[in-house]
Amino acid sequence: THFGYESVSIDEKEGRVKKVFANVADNYDVMNDFMSGGLHRYWKDELLRMTGVKSMAGAVRRLAASSWNDRGEGGRPLLSILDVAGGTGDVAFRFVDAADCVERAKSSGSDEVSVTVCDINPEMLRVGEARARRRYGAGPLDESGSLRFVEGNAQSLPFDDGSFDLYTIAFGLRNVTDVDAALRDALRVLKPGGRFLCLEFSHVTNDVPLLAELYDAYSFHVIPKLGEVVANDRDSYQYLVESIRKFCTQDELVTRMEAAGFECVRYTNMTGGIVAVHEGWKP
Ligand code: SAM
Repeated sequence: THFGYESVSIDEKEGRVKKVFANVADNYDVMNDFMSGGLHRYWKDELLRMTGVKSMAGAVRRLAASSWNDRGEGGRPLLSILDVAGGTGDVAFRFVDAADCVERAKSSGSDEVSVTVCDINPEMLRVGEARARRRYGAGPLDESGSLRFVEGNAQSLPFDDGSFDLYTIAFGLRNVTDVDAALRDALRVLKPGGRFLCLEFSHVTNDVPLLAELYDAYSFHVIPKLGEVVANDRDSYQYLVESIRKFCTQDELVTRMEAAGFECVRYTNMTGGIVAVHEGWKP
């Protein structure tokens, strides 16, 4: 019924995705670097830049320091960020760093910025939370509460309507069983005027000579082999490659975001379309 995945039933896909990420959780970060040659770091840095979180955090801090600040309704943070399918925290940590949440936890014990990681897989969250403790200590996790890890499904998020200013999902949408339901739920949890950004593998464009051929050879021969040799798990990495190929094109995703209700939808290709960032606003 949806783009791709016709051969796999919904239940089967959900089970398969859970198993893949439970299998890879402990090796996930090392394998990411290994398989992408570190490129995923650059893609995530670009995603961070495109969100503008550094500037926005600066703005809310100035607002918080000004005399007319009421810290929003009920004292809620002024900038609420949700990273869905946030796994082991890579994107969320970029937000925490860009918004100086650690400094804030040390100096005041409360924060105007909140970053929530949501993922369906408790194994990935466990690895993420342990990484956060090693990286930041207790500050943003316990003292200011500006970083939290929450288990939940992108299709029916455990958050109230209109809770967030920014919603990101990096290398996650492709794994969700019902992409359209996830897009609708993203719209629901955003505040009016909130912004959605999705970083995802996409489809190579024709403007870089030989890129498509090289990428095919790498995907179909090298990745499954690396998965077998390095993580002793060929199947999970075979799934990875297949899920990328079956996922919708740049233009199809634009159409689906618009159908879900997003406005001003557009995308930016990176690395010849190997990945793309799609963005849209909640009216
Ligand atoms: N965003 C992280 C990153 O870029 O490193 C993790 C990406 S990882 C490839 C995909 C993540 O999507 C996994 O952690 C998996 O558990 C999660 N996931 C899959 N289906 C999901 C769903 N329906 N709802 C929420 N998370 C989901």
